[in-house]
Amino acid sequence: MAEKIKVSCFHCGATNNFPLDSAEKTVVCGRCRNALPIPGTVLELPEQAAVALIQRAGLPVLVDFYSPTCGPCMMMHPLVERLAKRRAGELMVIKVNIDNSPGLAASFRVQAVPTFVITSKGTERGRSSGAMGETDFSLWVASRT
Ligand SMILES: [Zn+2]
Repeated sequence: MAEKIKVSCFHCGATNNFPLDSAEKTVVCGRCRNALPIPGTVLELPEQAAVALIQRAGLPVLVDFYSPTCGPCMMMHPLVERLAKRRAGELMVIKVNIDNSPGLAASFRVQAVPTFVITSKGTERGRSSGAMGETDFSLWVASRT
């Protein structure tokens, strides 16, 4: 039996079991047949897909609102990527460039970057603004998911 890990589809929100031995192949959603994201990766989605994932995902979603010109945001990205890998199967992680997705940033009233928001089925479970250390970041995410 291949090892499987949970991942939520950003088209329909269905949570699928993703077989880990399918490294080279595209795995499609059992409900809508669109390609699934690879578990443990930080996704950068078009605004509409990001909104759909936040609203519908079966798994909690960590949203990293950032700007490419913000130093603390760039400092946080490797931490966010490591967290996404560690929490693969438990949490979806997306990063949102507020310059490309102003509507999404406004709907979450993001006023500074980086801002991290954790949502569950579209409901906000927690938020934190500014850079933080890796341990504090992991504990904060764990406390909200
Ligand atoms: Zn789907």
